[in-house]
Amino acid sequence: MSIEELLIDFSDGITAIDTQFLRRRMDASHLIVHGGRGAFVDTGTNSSVPTLLKAIEARGLKREAIDYVLLTHVHLDHAGGAGLLMQSLPNARAVIHPRGARHMIDPAKLIAGAMQVYGEQAFHRLYGTLVPIAEERIVIAANGAEVMLGGDRRLELIHTPGHALHHYAIVDHAARAIFSGDNFGISYREFDTSHGEFIFPTTSPVQFDPEAMHATIDRLMSYQPKAIFLTHYSRVQELARLARDLHAGVDAYVEMARRNHGKPDRGALLRKDMATWFDAALDRHGYTGNAITRRELLEGDIDVNCQGLEVWLDRKAGAGRE
Ligand SMILES: [Zn+2]
Repeated sequence: MSIEELLIDFSDGITAIDTQFLRRRMDASHLIVHGGRGAFVDTGTNSSVPTLLKAIEARGLKREAIDYVLLTHVHLDHAGGAGLLMQSLPNARAVIHPRGARHMIDPAKLIAGAMQVYGEQAFHRLYGTLVPIAEERIVIAANGAEVMLGGDRRLELIHTPGHALHHYAIVDHAARAIFSGDNFGISYREFDTSHGEFIFPTTSPVQFDPEAMHATIDRLMSYQPKAIFLTHYSRVQELARLARDLHAGVDAYVEMARRNHGKPDRGALLRKDMATWFDAALDRHGYTGNAITRRELLEGDIDVNCQGLEVWLDRKAGAGRE
């Protein structure tokens, strides 16, 4: 496959790169080029690194011109390739949330966590061997910190809990855009219809927090962005409606989690309810894909969402007993 087939160019020097994690158009890294310098937003996994390096060249930069690897959060589908990538980028610093940095210096806990979610075999197949990032190459992203790209492109980093506590979003003031990581939901381009973009929240284990997610959606919208770039998958623009859909989605997840809490087959019931919810939402959205396609596109998200909701239920139950 030629590199150009994996790239989508937007305005303001922003390019989406298909990391090809699991399937096409599932997981994006973004390259921002300004004033002859470059920054990556998220990296995909080790397998994505050759594609990212080709993308640098395809957009006319040398590897030496990459100043930043901005990691919105340290879940491995977005940060797993960062250490390996940094080995080829002599001038880049990795910018990481204070709660995520130590895990990129010593990935043992990330490996253990991901093995629990995906299983040991799948972990090795998906993520390979994680390369740590040397401490001196890491910049800790305080809440509200700024990074300057190419002299005058101001990128503001804001802490955005909800999906994960080690999550920040990047406000790109020049482009009036935000790179939201996983905090403004997931919107696969396969679900675009005449009704527009389809979006849903992602509640991966182990730090989903519905109140924080609601607040983060509002905080992102308060910047009045023209576009939000998601890791899954890239640019969305119908932001007011999408924000409403996300708020409703979080409430629906919470409701179905509560409804099934305490039942002996909670996990299976929750999965069934979520699959039903997705089907109804997609039907309303005018999506005509059949059950097989829907399952192929959503099976993994339904599973991970339900795992995250169950962890949240158990955490709440534990806190209630204290
Ligand atoms: Zn993700």
